[in-house]
Amino acid sequence: MLLPRQPLLRSIALVGEALAGKPARAFAFFYPEATGTYRFTDRSVTIRKHFPDSLALLTSSDMSDKPALQSKYDVVILGAGHNGLVAATYLGRAGLSVLLLEKNDYIGGAVTSQKVFPDYNAYLSRYSYLVSLFPEKIIRDLGLKLELRRRATGSFTPYVKNGEHQGLLLSNTSEETSRQSMFELTGSQAEHEQLKKLYNLPRVFAEHVWDSMLEPLVAKEEFGRRFGRDEISREAWRSLAEEPLGRAIERYLQNDLVRGLVLTDAKIGVFTNPHDPSLLQNRCFLYHLIGNKTGEWKVPVGGMGAVARELETAARKSGAEFLTNVDLRALGLNRNKHGVEFRIDGKKQTVEGRFLLVNFGRNVLARYLDDEYHPEATDEGSVFKINMLLRRLPKLKETRYPRSIATR
Ligand SMILES: Cc1cc2nc3c(=O)[nH]c(=O)nc-3n(C[C@H](O)[C@H](O)[C@H](O)COP(=O)(O)OP(=O)(O)OC[C@H]3O[C@@H](n4cnc5c(N)ncnc54)[C@H](O)[C@@H]3O)c2cc1C
Repeated sequence: MLLPRQPLLRSIALVGEALAGKPARAFAFFYPEATGTYRFTDRSVTIRKHFPDSLALLTSSDMSDKPALQSKYDVVILGAGHNGLVAATYLGRAGLSVLLLEKNDYIGGAVTSQKVFPDYNAYLSRYSYLVSLFPEKIIRDLGLKLELRRRATGSFTPYVKNGEHQGLLLSNTSEETSRQSMFELTGSQAEHEQLKKLYNLPRVFAEHVWDSMLEPLVAKEEFGRRFGRDEISREAWRSLAEEPLGRAIERYLQNDLVRGLVLTDAKIGVFTNPHDPSLLQNRCFLYHLIGNKTGEWKVPVGGMGAVARELETAARKSGAEFLTNVDLRALGLNRNKHGVEFRIDGKKQTVEGRFLLVNFGRNVLARYLDDEYHPEATDEGSVFKINMLLRRLPKLKETRYPRSIATR
């Protein structure tokens, strides 16, 4: 709807009135100077984006916090994390009616930027903060505008040698820097060459498996056959899918610090060890090293909140409806339809879905199905993140590398 030029507040009020009786997917156009949040009697409206032709697009989450709820949807998605948002977009584009129900007052789950320290005007990627495993095919399919930047420093590991503080710097941009740093730690060129050979294994692995991430699961035996074609593929399969990762690490590397550094990717968040026969450490390692075939972890410009906003916008454009602040009460599962009971603003609501898509953990689901949840040992883990806001970069005991490189 194009509005004639008129005083700003009046245009907003007009569109606000128009929205009152419309379903959530309605879009309205504003003058570009109108970005911001405006409060009406029963809702608030946020105008976020400008179009180049000097119109602005309304993409308010508040606007559709209270959509004209239908009683039936093709798909009801429980939880609006990034997986729920991607599913909602594909399903909406396929012509299905989709409703997302989210318990938080924001969209995106662990993919979010928040003002963690209320006294400071800084938005931090509160939980998840780097992108690697988001398939480029999905980014293209959904038309997401994401800028992902390379980190110059892969890792910096401080150590003490002969009573002196030093650091092992592995660079993403200069092989020579990494080689030199490794030489200073080990006194030989061999370890750097061996590290390159070891990291080549997950790269070869990724070549074989990455594209299957968007396909139905392939059985392990079938994968094994695919790796049979040459010696390096067979070595990758053996080292990463058949024997505990600790063996490959010990076979390739001699230095304990370097061994420990490599193992970090196999241990983050899970209770395991290099020789764990369950191969949990191998799985953890592979997830950290096969993303989009390079395994590189990049920084989203604008923080994770920018990723969540792009996903939310794509889902809304596909026609998906959202409710936030939802207090889920009960799930009724039948063969052909699924009932969802929840409270919102103190009122009881029910909706039916032909399909129910669950975007939260099995532990949460069990509560609504009156099931007891018994986690498997490999489901257990420990993750926490400390968010800090610094006035300046920390001073390091090792002084050879500039702080801006070592702590990046
Ligand atoms: C501290 C930390 C750091 C991480 N860092 C990274 C990283 O840098 N890069 C990376 O790729 N991955 C990272 N991860 C992992 C990543 O965040 C998750 O794998 C990913 O967010 C999972 O997405 P999801 O959509 O499946 O679930 P979630 O993001 O967990 O979304 C689930 C949604 O369901 C909602 N929900 C839960 N219960 C209910 C209910 N009863 N009713 C309605 N809604 C409900 C939640 O509020 C949430 O919005 C990190 C995880 C943590 C914990």
